Amino acid sequence: MAEQGHLFVDGEHRTGTSGETHDVINPADGSVVATVALASARDVDDAVAAATRAQQVWGAMTPGERSAALTRLAAAMEARAEEYAQVETSQTGKPIKLTREFDVPGSIDNVAFYAGAARNLEGKAAAEWDGAHTSMIRREPVGVVGSIAPWNYPLQMAVWKVLPAIAAGNAIVLKPAELTPLTALMLAEDCKVAGIPDGVVNVITGTGRLAGEALLAHPGVRMVSFTGSTPVGKRVMEVASATVKRVHLELGGKAPFVVFDDADLEAAVQGAVAGALINTGQDCTAATRAYVQRPLYDAFVQGVADVMRTVRLGAPTDPGTDQGPLVSFAQRDRVAGFVERARGYGAKVVAGGQIPGGELASGAYYEPTLVVDAAQDSEIVQSEIFGPVLVVLPFDSDEEGIALANDTPFGLAASAWTRDVVRSMRASREIQAGCVWINDHIPIVSEMPHGGYKQSGFGKDMSQYSFDEYTQVKHVSIDVTGEARKDWHRTIFGDR
Ligand code: NAD
Repeated sequence: MAEQGHLFVDGEHRTGTSGETHDVINPADGSVVATVALASARDVDDAVAAATRAQQVWGAMTPGERSAALTRLAAAMEARAEEYAQVETSQTGKPIKLTREFDVPGSIDNVAFYAGAARNLEGKAAAEWDGAHTSMIRREPVGVVGSIAPWNYPLQMAVWKVLPAIAAGNAIVLKPAELTPLTALMLAEDCKVAGIPDGVVNVITGTGRLAGEALLAHPGVRMVSFTGSTPVGKRVMEVASATVKRVHLELGGKAPFVVFDDADLEAAVQGAVAGALINTGQDCTAATRAYVQRPLYDAFVQGVADVMRTVRLGAPTDPGTDQGPLVSFAQRDRVAGFVERARGYGAKVVAGGQIPGGELASGAYYEPTLVVDAAQDSEIVQSEIFGPVLVVLPFDSDEEGIALANDTPFGLAASAWTRDVVRSMRASREIQAGCVWINDHIPIVSEMPHGGYKQSGFGKDMSQYSFDEYTQVKHVSIDVTGEARKDWHRTIFGDR
């Protein structure tokens, strides 16, 4: 782990030029995990300069050479998988079983996927569309990519940003979230271990307002890839527009979970609790709004409340802990505020709804919480809470269930629960989201894309589709007539 240097620029740790630092806090007990530098605009300039130089070298290497380096990166990460898991847990409060079994292996799998995908980038085959020219398509790197990541899955988000960018021959400057920069720094260290040239992967730790905006505004950055909240995403588009950067936005979500009356009730109940509480609900695809067809509604609410009460809150490092603290005390208070305001306007809290006391009082814990009787247009149904809170609402007709599912500004992910193939096909077609699960909620794979509809953003992370973001398509048109006077010239000057 990087304890001395805090930025990783041009293959080395640097302390930065601002002289300012930020403490990374363990939200389980408030202790300081590490102190990192806050990058200045000058540090951003240095990182972009290093990336610009390195991209010339990296972009000129063969896909096979890049692929070999990414394979070594996967091995380097695997060699310290347990360290990644421990550091991720200490800076986020995630239960160690989640970081060991999900965050870290999922990230390494993603690196391995891109090691293969790096060799499969090609344009379309050549052809003579007008008979006089051979056209071909080249797929080229964009250049230097500036990426900004959130705190909820720090390593995974760093990997999702860095890997498609560098697999396609770009260089990158990544700004992790202030709260959780440590595993992104480890990733950059492992890029060096893997023999990826210095400067291809740079990590600047710093604030959004200063380092983030400097990166967005930098003329040397050709593309911005951002994962975070929708309000900041809007700001990213605004700043990036000044230099007409390509923009890729993965933003907030408010995933619906639609249970039709023929669903397997037990599966839906278990799926709702797991889907709502994964990563303490700090997951952009987490199940947040369950719509349950009237005949199953009461049993579903009862079932979810019963399962929620079995969830074990505790120390994140204890392998028996199901749910750790929120990422910060501020985030916990934000979540508690949503639930308090919902109570105030008449919603009912069926389970949880409290900041736990006793041993857990020194951490940013919040109980798994089930809310009913909230109105569809209320804040708790419409806004992203990013905490362990599930709201359940009833519906009558299938049309109504799907319409309610679509009734927020977001469109990142959704699930439908039914044993009827026609209903499942209809839900998958009509729900406006970048991912629709049928009879499950959450699983993702490196081979398939992740990205939003509506105000959840645009562009795809993961999978071959991500290369559409991180490459630009060039049309090369070659005259094959060999004639000095082309046929079309007669439209410009007279017959001779
Ligand atoms: P956030 O938007 O507050 O911050 C995200 C990043 O943006 C951080 O690195 C922050 O420093 C930076 N930032 C903040 N203000 C900035 C500015 N003015 N200019 C440049 N950078 C700035 O989000 P968060 O609280 O870190 O993360 C939670 C959000 O991320 C949720 O909304 C969640 O849904 C979203 N998210 C989305 C996906 C997805 O794939 N769609 C994945 C994970 C998280």
